[in-house]
Amino acid sequence: MRDGIFALATAPGRAAIAVMRLSGSGVSRVLEQLGGKLPAPRRASTRRLRDLETREVIDEALVLWLPGPGSFTGEDSAELHLHGGGAVVARVTELLQQLGLRLAEPGEFTRRAFENDRLDLAQAEAVADLVDAETDAQRRQALGQLRGDLSRRHETWRSDLLDALAMLEAAIDFPDEELPDTLVDEARARLSNVAREVTDAADDTRGERVREGFRIALVGAPNAGKSSLLNGLAQRDVAIVTEIAGTTRDVLETPLVLAGYSVVLADMAGLRATEDRVEAEGVRRATAWATGADLRLLVVDGAASESEWREPAELLVQGDAVLLNKTDRMAGHDRAAAQAWAETRGLEVVAVSATESIADLRNWLTARTTAAMGGAEVPAATRLRHREALAAASGFLDRALYGEGDPELVAENIRLAARSLERIAGRLDPESVLDRVFSTFCIGK
Ligand code: GDP
Repeated sequence: MRDGIFALATAPGRAAIAVMRLSGSGVSRVLEQLGGKLPAPRRASTRRLRDLETREVIDEALVLWLPGPGSFTGEDSAELHLHGGGAVVARVTELLQQLGLRLAEPGEFTRRAFENDRLDLAQAEAVADLVDAETDAQRRQALGQLRGDLSRRHETWRSDLLDALAMLEAAIDFPDEELPDTLVDEARARLSNVAREVTDAADDTRGERVREGFRIALVGAPNAGKSSLLNGLAQRDVAIVTEIAGTTRDVLETPLVLAGYSVVLADMAGLRATEDRVEAEGVRRATAWATGADLRLLVVDGAASESEWREPAELLVQGDAVLLNKTDRMAGHDRAAAQAWAETRGLEVVAVSATESIADLRNWLTARTTAAMGGAEVPAATRLRHREALAAASGFLDRALYGEGDPELVAENIRLAARSLERIAGRLDPESVLDRVFSTFCIGK
């Protein structure tokens, strides 16, 4: 067992209860020295925690004794449920240090759980994601990953690859035996099946979008009504609305929750050529943000001429949409013209009015977000790290299937693909990768 560590597991500050978490060698001794008799394992027991020298009572606490290896970290562990005052937490911290425990590093409890095989790396990441979850979709995804959904899918692929490898190796090792020809065909079929699924999963960014938010850019000419729509959707005055063109210069990101999904909606400088240096920088930032977004909505003043949208329209790609705004004061023929223009570009047109029909726009956006984020299969990747490993596996499988036919080379590429999949569970990763993953955790986790 490693050295004893401790950390406050609850948020610092005044609270009803503060939970101090302990793990590693010496935990049972520390509990006895602080509170007397060791409580029964996994049973909540009250104890008076006393100063080591004066024997003054520091707090009356609920103490949990969680002996290893059945604990979260796999080590002897404990929780002290203290009264949440700053003075209590400060004194107990001092006492634990006097007793030889040290303050835990960020993520150190979860890292020990990983190193003691209580969790794989994807599950460890899920612990962090669950703590960070602010929407239902984030919570559901993190919990599924913590319970092993992701790891099971990668493991299924890996074991299919190893089956295919075994079949091919039988064909290599016993060329003269009467092996059925169908064996190689079956191995190839299996390989291409896994290759297709892994390649799709490597391109699927939905898991990351759930964690980081679905990014929607409102683009358009100045004065089209982008700020008014953003304020309407956010139900507060985020952006300044004026009839003066070129007011918005910075990209204004506003978080929204639609159908349980986290969404980042951004209002930005109207896209137009300008002499003003500040506005030009705004246009540069707007263009960059919109290009990287998951969905671009071109806001068009329904009464404006097409020449005004031509520039911002350049940023749109298939699947993006046009919000035909100010329909409250728009003539029928303008709407028909905009519709015709958008259809030739594969864009959907949504007629809106910032002053009259924000609820319709909200419903449309909710449906659009759900369609983009949902789907039959849950994503097999929730971080770039996972998708990079899947992309590497996909590359090796590609070489195994369509590269040189040398059987040894094919087998080696299959092995490398299987190893890339194993990386997601972290078994093969060097310290530096683990350091990077766990450093993003908070202390006490
Ligand atoms: P932005 O420059 O694209 O952000 O445009 P703003 O949101 O600042 O709006 C420009 C002007 O158009 C303001 O005077 C708004 O009040 C007005 N406006 C925006 N949306 C609508 C709408 O749906 N109907 C009407 N009648 N006016 C609107």
